[in-house]
Amino acid sequence: MREYTYGPFQSRRLKLSLGIDILPKCKKCTFDCVYCEIGTTEKNQLVSPEYRIKAPPSHGFRKELISILKHVPHLQSITFGYNGEPTLNENILEFLEIAINVRNEMKWIQEKPKLTLFTNSSTLYSKEIRERVMQFDLILAKLEAATDMDFKRTNRPHKDVPDIETIIDSLIKLKREMPENNELAIQCLFFNSYRDDFIPNDNPKNIEKVAHAIKRIKPDLVQIYSIARIPAQYYVFAIDEERKQQIVKKFRNILKNDSIKVNYY
Ligand code: SF4
Repeated sequence: MREYTYGPFQSRRLKLSLGIDILPKCKKCTFDCVYCEIGTTEKNQLVSPEYRIKAPPSHGFRKELISILKHVPHLQSITFGYNGEPTLNENILEFLEIAINVRNEMKWIQEKPKLTLFTNSSTLYSKEIRERVMQFDLILAKLEAATDMDFKRTNRPHKDVPDIETIIDSLIKLKREMPENNELAIQCLFFNSYRDDFIPNDNPKNIEKVAHAIKRIKPDLVQIYSIARIPAQYYVFAIDEERKQQIVKKFRNILKNDSIKVNYY
């Protein structure tokens, strides 16, 4: 039986990816995003960014990885983070070290798969967390709101999560501090809403502010996408292709920086 891994599956942004979940089987997250595709973050699952889980890898982790990876020599990403916020696990680097060792011991058809981390960015104000995170080849960090109102409506953070300006500042620091060979991608999920009294994050002011924040962060890549599965709240829904293209155009106009790739999915 598998304890840590999901897939491999074809991902829109990562191609063939093996998911690694390093949190206990119940969701733990600092956010309760309206669009979350793994369901609402219940009261007992919504935790402070200071909350830490001590869950080191069991002896089975290495064995489980090898048993799957030997069948996928064309894998492109070993991706941490599927059941909440992975940086809450104190032992994240122990998992990473095992994954790096296994990856280096195996034979690959093309390039070795990247070691990728999904984070919702809420814990990055901590230098200790940034130092852990920057050891991944590719960091996919969430930023889809840049006003406090949009942030609260969209991500519904735990009360201890810092304000959005602090989160943006920590992304700026992360990019400055991380090794040059590793990559930072900012992930922006934009959605629409059926409810007249719920302003979606796809509103002109927010889009513009997110673009200006990204201009300051200077990531390697920006990924614009939308809801693809059933969201936690029924009243939000995906924006269409045309809208994604408009947002890409708007971002490029504001960024005016060809070294930041802006893609949509
Ligand atoms: S940060 Fe990710 S896991 Fe947490 S609620 Fe938002 S979408 Fe779900």
